[in-house]
Amino acid sequence: MARSTSSATVHKFGGAALADADAIRHAAQIVAKRPARAVVVASAMRGVTDVLLELPVLARRDERQALRQSIDELRQRHLVAASELEEDGEELAGAINGEFERLSEVLGSIGAGSSADPAINDAVAAYGERMSASMLSAALNIMGVRAKVVDATQIIRADATHGNATPDFPRTAAAVNEQLLPLIGDQVVPVVAGFIGSAPNGAIVTLGRGGSDLTATLLARALNAGSVMLWKDVPGVLTADPQVVPDARLVPRLHVREAAELAYYGAKVLHPRALIGLRDETRLFIRPLSNPESLGTEVTTRRDKAAEKRYPVRAITAIGSQAIINISGDGMVGVPGIAARAFGALERAGVSVALISQASSEHSICLVVPTAVAALAHDALAAAFAQQLERQEVEGIDVEKDVAIVAVVGLGMSGTRGVAARLFAAIADAEVNIIAIAQGASELNISVVVDEKSVAAVQRAVHSAFRLDKIGGGAATASANADVVMLGFGRIGREVATQLGEVARTRSLHVVAVIDSSGYVFDPRGLSKRRLATLAAAKASGTALANTPKGVRASAESALSEVRRHALTRPILVDVTAGDTSAVLEAALAGGMDIVLANKNPLAARRGRRGGLTRSATAHGRRVLHEATVGAGLPIIDTISKLQESGDKVLRIEGCPSGTLGYLFGELGRGTSFSTALRAAMTLGYTEPDPREDLSGMDVARKGLILGRMLGFSGELDSVSVESLVPVEYRDIPAPEFISRLDEMDGLWRERVEEARSHDSVLRYRATAGRDSVRVGLVAVSAASSLGALMGTDNQFSITTSRYHDNPIVITGPGAGVAVTAAGVLNDVLKLAGSR
Ligand code: ADP
Ligand code: ASP
Ligand code: MG
Repeated sequence: MARSTSSATVHKFGGAALADADAIRHAAQIVAKRPARAVVVASAMRGVTDVLLELPVLARRDERQALRQSIDELRQRHLVAASELEEDGEELAGAINGEFERLSEVLGSIGAGSSADPAINDAVAAYGERMSASMLSAALNIMGVRAKVVDATQIIRADATHGNATPDFPRTAAAVNEQLLPLIGDQVVPVVAGFIGSAPNGAIVTLGRGGSDLTATLLARALNAGSVMLWKDVPGVLTADPQVVPDARLVPRLHVREAAELAYYGAKVLHPRALIGLRDETRLFIRPLSNPESLGTEVTTRRDKAAEKRYPVRAITAIGSQAIINISGDGMVGVPGIAARAFGALERAGVSVALISQASSEHSICLVVPTAVAALAHDALAAAFAQQLERQEVEGIDVEKDVAIVAVVGLGMSGTRGVAARLFAAIADAEVNIIAIAQGASELNISVVVDEKSVAAVQRAVHSAFRLDKIGGGAATASANADVVMLGFGRIGREVATQLGEVARTRSLHVVAVIDSSGYVFDPRGLSKRRLATLAAAKASGTALANTPKGVRASAESALSEVRRHALTRPILVDVTAGDTSAVLEAALAGGMDIVLANKNPLAARRGRRGGLTRSATAHGRRVLHEATVGAGLPIIDTISKLQESGDKVLRIEGCPSGTLGYLFGELGRGTSFSTALRAAMTLGYTEPDPREDLSGMDVARKGLILGRMLGFSGELDSVSVESLVPVEYRDIPAPEFISRLDEMDGLWRERVEEARSHDSVLRYRATAGRDSVRVGLVAVSAASSLGALMGTDNQFSITTSRYHDNPIVITGPGAGVAVTAAGVLNDVLKLAGSR
């Protein structure tokens, strides 16, 4: 019997662990350290399940070309990994080609216009796990560890619920005894594809998204294993999803009930049913691939009362895409069995209810269900309460979509007073409205329902209210992985791509797409340095991206939606255009991208009802960094943010944020005439093609507005007071005429310069930003002051805060130019790539 194998160890490698050949080798090495009595479970390569599940959709829509292209890309990705693993063999490549032929056949059998078939979806999805099991097994054998793929459908037996099957434990345990034990006895490592199994009729089923975790714990249960290791791309179970809460911390030990509750309430790190039936003797660890020595998180049945007392709330989680159904009516008061009837109806309709809450007046009950089944749930309830509706005991059954559940979880909550109050206060401070509240009798979990848009903000606020960033298990380690999408490929964009290429060797950073106004070039595996150089040369000589080899003609919006169809790693959109890109940026945020801006417009734009880009980013749990929008590469935005994070209050920022105007006034001060100085600036490329853009002060006004908004200024661009340096009569004439008439203004400027000089002063174009006002305009300052001493195109900013009050922080340096601006962008990209 299985008892004798209690020293078995089940290792499960998630998608991130199997992203490419290097990752697969790394996983194999972990097993190779202790191969005795090891059993391996493989997930599909990262992102592959998502792509596979799209294929039947394309087939049904008869999008044959897109279908073929997606299959080819997948095949290519697997073949590249296979050839890197097995340097001089063909066996693995042959096996993979065979799998792809069968996959193409299955897809070919799907008729255009046919309706979705869950059995076919499962059959298609299964290829991902099967191929990575073959690759992992090959990698082990190459390393000298005897390993063998065992067909998962012959081991994991389940019911016939396609897409979310429930395992049949007794039959699975029998298959494990029959097929895995002999291999283990012969010192062969069995490699089993995760996520899949077979229905009683032999059809392939899947165990629900993330189901490889369940495969692993199921095998561990059947083997009575000593331990299960779930190897992931995170340090373990964290206090929150690190993609949403950047300062999430590792929880070194988690009680099994806490872990189950987190998994059930949406924490993707563990499959919701993975812990069911796990034996007490089996130790479960969620461990970091990037640091195989670390034990990560141990999920245990032992309680740690001291830790529970210190951290009554252990972690936060959220489930999005939910709908709330409200059943209300005066006639419900005091009538027994309403909730039971509602539950019964939903159970019969196959709808699982994530949360229920009833006001103590019994006037209403609300239930939360996934949006996808909201209509079904509504109809089932309407039928169940038909009589009550008719008699008007129940007045209405209303559905509200786009809500999310946020749950705080911790065993220590029961018996600790004030947890709920702290939770609600944190949410109120974040200015978010709570739609419904539920607390289970176990007091292991308090859930609140909030507007989906606020779900990220709520998690961060609650995380900090319960001081979870202090839990002491170490931070979510930084891994500098990111896929970069360049929006704009002009001079700055090209320089950013070049600089990225130089640092990319030591980090896993790839430019995967470049987009311009004509179209885009995209390769989900990353554009090579050489390819980027060729594209840059083409662009520099005036060729639009759409006209380059493999360039595609498209609007920026459709380019982005094409990019979003692929599974990218921590994607970052870099906007180096000068246009109105709000729609593209919104789509990027909604698609899970972080944003880096050199483009000022999105931050200076009218903020509208949704509160602008930064608000929207917060709501999506994404970040927007924009160092290069003010002072090019100078650390202005970063300094302001750091001061604010440290609790200082930034009161005022004053300075010269325009290299162009800085140059102009420097020259005027030296006695050069206005027309000569401006023409020189134009020749040197310091101005916009129409120099009135600079002289009007609007560029400086935008920078002032961006700074002001960081300090709480609530106005728009038209509430910035701007002094234009273009006299009224010159504002509407054509640009060439303006340029030819520059000499007419020389007299006026000479007078102004002389007047200032008579007071030992010089002219500067200055921006002053505060919470209450933003002003930009011409001033005369003492030649001996630091602003007066400013040279050439240098910028200067002085930052006055509560702490730096009498002696502000002053930052001076080159504030214009392609190389320094690109460096500012690059810093932001690295910051995002390293912080998640
Ligand atoms: P696997 O590669 O094994 O399939 P998953 O990708 O399913 O792993 O799970 C890991 C992901 O879960 C992380 O990248 C992280 O974004 C997410 N996650 C959500 N909540 C948590 C949490 N509390 N702790 C750790 N990771 C979390
Ligand atoms: N590959 C499957 C998924 O993406 C199963 C898993 O990763 O556990 O859901
Ligand atoms: Mg998973």
